[in-house]
Amino acid sequence: MTVREIPAAFEIRCDGCGKTVKSTSKHRPDHWSNLDIGRDAYDFQGCAVADGSVHLLLCDVCSPVVFHAVNEAHAALSKSGEKP
Ligand SMILES: [Zn+2]
Repeated sequence: MTVREIPAAFEIRCDGCGKTVKSTSKHRPDHWSNLDIGRDAYDFQGCAVADGSVHLLLCDVCSPVVFHAVNEAHAALSKSGEKP
């Protein structure tokens, strides 16, 4: 009898561009990023009724673009004193 071990494989997909990489680990690939925005979803009366959080996994190409966009938006809001 021969036993051959076949290691587990995971396919990790970028939520931005759809790029996929295969890995033997569930961990985020090097140079990839998680974007997590935790927030509640509200009903029309203003009561929090659900989880409205956003969780994205972004590849090494998409993450710098999103990181730059977030920084630009934050800086613009901070300078103008606008409230969302
Ligand atoms: Zn991507």
